[in-house]
Amino acid sequence: MKSYNIAVIKGDGIGPEIVDEAIKVLDRVGEVFDIDFSYKEYLMGGCAYDETGDPLPNETVEGALNSDAVLFGSIGGYKWDHLHRDLKPETGLLRFRTALGVFANLRPVKVYHELTGASHLKEEIVDGVDLMVVRELTGGIYFGKPREKREDMAYNTMVYTKEEIRRIAKIAFEIAQKRRKKVCSVDKANVLEVSQLWRETAEEVAKEYPEVELTHMYVDNASMQLILDPKQFDVILTGNIFGDILSDEASMISGSIGLLPSASIGGKIGVYEPIHGSAPDIAGQGIANPIATISSAAMLLKYSLNELDASLAIDRAIAKTLHDGYRTADMAKYGAKKVCSTSEMGDIIAKNIEK
Ligand code: NAD
Repeated sequence: MKSYNIAVIKGDGIGPEIVDEAIKVLDRVGEVFDIDFSYKEYLMGGCAYDETGDPLPNETVEGALNSDAVLFGSIGGYKWDHLHRDLKPETGLLRFRTALGVFANLRPVKVYHELTGASHLKEEIVDGVDLMVVRELTGGIYFGKPREKREDMAYNTMVYTKEEIRRIAKIAFEIAQKRRKKVCSVDKANVLEVSQLWRETAEEVAKEYPEVELTHMYVDNASMQLILDPKQFDVILTGNIFGDILSDEASMISGSIGLLPSASIGGKIGVYEPIHGSAPDIAGQGIANPIATISSAAMLLKYSLNELDASLAIDRAIAKTLHDGYRTADMAKYGAKKVCSTSEMGDIIAKNIEK
């Protein structure tokens, strides 16, 4: 029997509720595929600050580095918004990603046929959308120095080295090779020097992948094209801030932010988490949609453990559950035969896991 150690960081708000459901589904996957998962919990975010005074205790980084993969919920909430930047839960998360070296954030956006009505876009625009945003995660303007806020002015710096662009571009091309073989690199090369280097480097990397088509798009146009015709995209390759914004925009194509997973890879250990935050407005009510986190567990199996059959089994179980009409409250208006709680949704998906 294969066995894996998963570091679990539940975090704040709905984090514990949704991670518990992902673990429930992983345990069922373990039974069906004869895999032994062991879990060790670590603190991060507001709960870590409350208990230790630090949103990212050293023990959490060490535990993650000694695991096979990290399953992550979400961090943050109003309670900690007043804290100094260094102590905020979100700063802990940025430090964590840097410590693990996870420079590539993969955000797949797939529209379930059963939920096309949930999108704010017309059904014929969204039905069949299947794209992947590959976002650079540890560089760009969120990390660039110098940065400063004064009373009457403030500045940040957008900086990328050629090597940083090259390594994220390679990941996008590798992924495209296993998909529909199209990479659209999104930048602002008509205005920003950093984007000009981005574009040149993407062109260089493209030469190593002759079977993959590379196109370029300015970020303003890309934000429009995502709404106008999302099916034109296969893999979108972009930097940190553009990817942050575009992937949230792309999430709305699917109808609910509670559906979309992510993987942060490229470093020593992969981190798998839903793209949404800690949803303090619904925390503790048992109504959060756990599908994004369960789907993140499927990405963990695929990208960190190379358990491809088990990963696909989770994808199939989610699709079947939605097909059978089970919906959490956020999707209740769209084809619901039964509106279920967070834990009921986890139960049904776990039950639907099959070889
Ligand atoms: P959010 O994603 O937490 O919530 C936005 C809206 O979506 C809310 O109405 C929420 O109820 C709803 N929502 C989110 N996830 C849902 C789910 N699984 N099921 C049903 N509804 C869901 O974004 P926000 O309100 O801007 O941020 C709340 C906190 O989360 C902030 O402190 C923010 O910094 C933090 N945050 C953390 C992460 C992370 O941990 N990676 C990411 C984004 C935001």
